[in-house]
Amino acid sequence: MTNRQKLEVFSEILRYRTVSRQPGEVFDMEPFVQIADYLREAFPQVHRHFKRETVGGGSLLFTLQGADRSLKPFMLSAHLDVVPAQDGEMWPEPPFSGNISGGRIWGRGSIDYKAGVSAMLQACEDILDRGFVPERTVILAFGHDEEVGGDDGAAEMVKILADRGVSLTSVLDEGGYIYSYPWMDRDVAVIGLAEKGYLTLRLAARGVQRHASVPELNTAAGRLCRCLAELEKNQFTAKLCGPVEMMLDATSGMLRESVMLNEPAAAPVEEMMRIIEKWPSGNAIVRTTTAITMIRGSSKENIIPAEPYALVNFRAIPGDHSLEILNHVRSIAEPLGVDVTCEDTNQIHEPSGIASMDTAEYRAIQRAVQEILPGIPVVPGIFPAATDSRHYGGIADNVYRFEPVHLGEDGLGALHSEGESIAIEDYLNAVSFYTAYIRSVSTV
Ligand SMILES: [Zn+2]
Repeated sequence: MTNRQKLEVFSEILRYRTVSRQPGEVFDMEPFVQIADYLREAFPQVHRHFKRETVGGGSLLFTLQGADRSLKPFMLSAHLDVVPAQDGEMWPEPPFSGNISGGRIWGRGSIDYKAGVSAMLQACEDILDRGFVPERTVILAFGHDEEVGGDDGAAEMVKILADRGVSLTSVLDEGGYIYSYPWMDRDVAVIGLAEKGYLTLRLAARGVQRHASVPELNTAAGRLCRCLAELEKNQFTAKLCGPVEMMLDATSGMLRESVMLNEPAAAPVEEMMRIIEKWPSGNAIVRTTTAITMIRGSSKENIIPAEPYALVNFRAIPGDHSLEILNHVRSIAEPLGVDVTCEDTNQIHEPSGIASMDTAEYRAIQRAVQEILPGIPVVPGIFPAATDSRHYGGIADNVYRFEPVHLGEDGLGALHSEGESIAIEDYLNAVSFYTAYIRSVSTV
């Protein structure tokens, strides 16, 4: 297959409106049925050699039996669903067009994470074409509801695999990228060894509903706002978890001159931590973050609310536990008369475990990156958001997070942005990356 043909297949994959919906909204499964049909047509070798199963109505689980059944299988994971996108002016090309222009392929999912689905299948197609037979069983798992928690997709696939007694040596999922950090003088490839935890708390103050013409001197809304301001002022302590400490250590010689501190240097990593926490992308990897996301008062401009509330979303770094977050918030909120409860106890996730760097898989990722981008620094790190891999962690020795895509100046903001797109070179490199990775891991 020529590169042009590979790009056409990827473009077509971007055209299916596989949008996942929040619970309660109608989940239109038709595009998932259609994309599954198209994949069968686009990747005939994969469908000849792999067993393919549909799970939860839209997720696809592929298995290619390895020659040596005594070896644990390894998994590559991606997801078919995307977040919604409005056709509109902000998109240089329509979000479900898959149009190629200006050296880029445009469309919702072009980074997150149809690039993974398409490039992983393309890599398998290419190597099967050349007579590839793996020693180790290869599993591809493509969820259909990652953006809304993965309960019907990834979680179900894990159940099926666990029922079969499958234990994975590793999973490679999204959650590490080629970052252009604002404090660094060059791009780095960051392999996510862990992902942060997730917790949303509801902060509510109780008062009396009154007419706005006769307010009390202290309202519940006033107390709630003071509490939110205090929360922002009293951030969680910045601290280093293993992967971030290693990342800062490995990149301390790559600081932009403009960001270096003049004060006498402390331990380099401590100094690095103070430098990078000024940027949201740096702050997110050195502390449990506090994000006020929803604030609700009354429904009318002349009604004082009886029970204003706010939702605050926390992302915990490895080492911080949801109970500590709850206690910290209560210690600030309760003296101000603000109640704190968990918004949804089903959506509390502790930080993931930390994957080992001393494995064949980690070395295979490093080598595959060097093949496509010779000389780029490859460093460990953590992913500040959540992925389907939190489900797979339960049946895998190690979970690695990496997609060989340049995020550019927008950083992680590029993922759900208007104008989501990927450079042609990045997509074709991703195919080469997965090819090298699969070849390498399947034979050890
Ligand atoms: Zn994603």
